[in-house]
Amino acid sequence: MQRPYNFSAGPATIAPEVLQQAASEMLDWHGSGMGVMEMSHRGKEFISIYEQAQADLRELLAVPENFRILFMQGGGLAENAIVPLNLSRGGPVDFVLTGTWSQKSIKEARKYCPVNVAATDEAQGFTHLPDPAGWTLSPDASYVHLCSNETIHGVEFHELPDLKALGSRAPLVIDFSSQVASRPVDWSRVGLAFGGAQKNIGPAGLTLVVVREDLLGHALPACPSAFDYKIVADNDSMFNTPPTYAIYLAGLIFQWQKKQGGVQAIEARNIAKAKLLYEAIDQSQLYVNRVAKDCRSRMNVPFFLRDESRNEAFLAGARANGLLQLKGHKSVGGMRASLYNAMPLEGVQALVSYMREFERTQS
Ligand SMILES: *Cc1c(COP(=O)(O)O)cnc(C)c1O
Repeated sequence: MQRPYNFSAGPATIAPEVLQQAASEMLDWHGSGMGVMEMSHRGKEFISIYEQAQADLRELLAVPENFRILFMQGGGLAENAIVPLNLSRGGPVDFVLTGTWSQKSIKEARKYCPVNVAATDEAQGFTHLPDPAGWTLSPDASYVHLCSNETIHGVEFHELPDLKALGSRAPLVIDFSSQVASRPVDWSRVGLAFGGAQKNIGPAGLTLVVVREDLLGHALPACPSAFDYKIVADNDSMFNTPPTYAIYLAGLIFQWQKKQGGVQAIEARNIAKAKLLYEAIDQSQLYVNRVAKDCRSRMNVPFFLRDESRNEAFLAGARANGLLQLKGHKSVGGMRASLYNAMPLEGVQALVSYMREFERTQS
């Protein structure tokens, strides 16, 4: 059965092979007589699932030994509070404001520490990334936060800044919710990375945190124990019951990603997918993407119809052609196609040919 192509920004498409495997193991995981949801998180069956998922993720993302991988809950938005609770030591902290998600992070961090907005392109409508050479970093910042892929505005850091070269000693924190596992991470430039799983690595409910060990153990006294990175790390993410089924499903996705050739091979495919769609947009008279070319996101492609009165017709035709969830985020309107790892090139080809056909029938 050919399923429709699902361009949702998240929760997002998952490879059918992964869903089929989960379905086949639903009632009885590996002869254990139990489904994964029914297992104790401390039993040997689940521990083996957990350890495999940790090991596969470490291999996929080439996470160095001095970083811990934490499986948490609360999503990216909870991390907007959990990060300052753990890392700010009372502040100040520097933020780069590049779109809705970094804006939300700033708003939340202000509850816990003084916030300095080191750079923004808000005046240009979040269509560019401010050049790191011009950032006004605080000399005593506890950390610098940026969103490495702005899921709504469709801007992506294709290179992470080298804070040391910019004269900052602070660790870099990245919100890579919608970028994780779509490309390699330069861990030499990162102190902590966090992301909800539901874009690229699993179902909602699991939040991934990858944190350098020396950043553990500095939580503010008010930090809830379940959100204290050191407590979570010391308990191998089992201080409280972790989201066991989400971890299991993420583990299946990590294995699928390894079969795809790992993150380098996936990145090459993601580059090809994004190129195909952006070229189709740029060559058309009907569609437009306003993001500067060197910071366009590979994962989330917002685009607009020059004639916005055709939006509903576009979406209805897309659905009829098996192209789902293309409506743009309500805050920016228009369309958005998310091209996460599990979106095959064929899905983007189908979208592009539908877009051409729709444009042809408009005049
Ligand atoms: C989706 C997303 C979030 C929010 O994640 P939740 O799981 O809904 O809390 C945060 N940051 C970015 C960049 C996202 O794309």
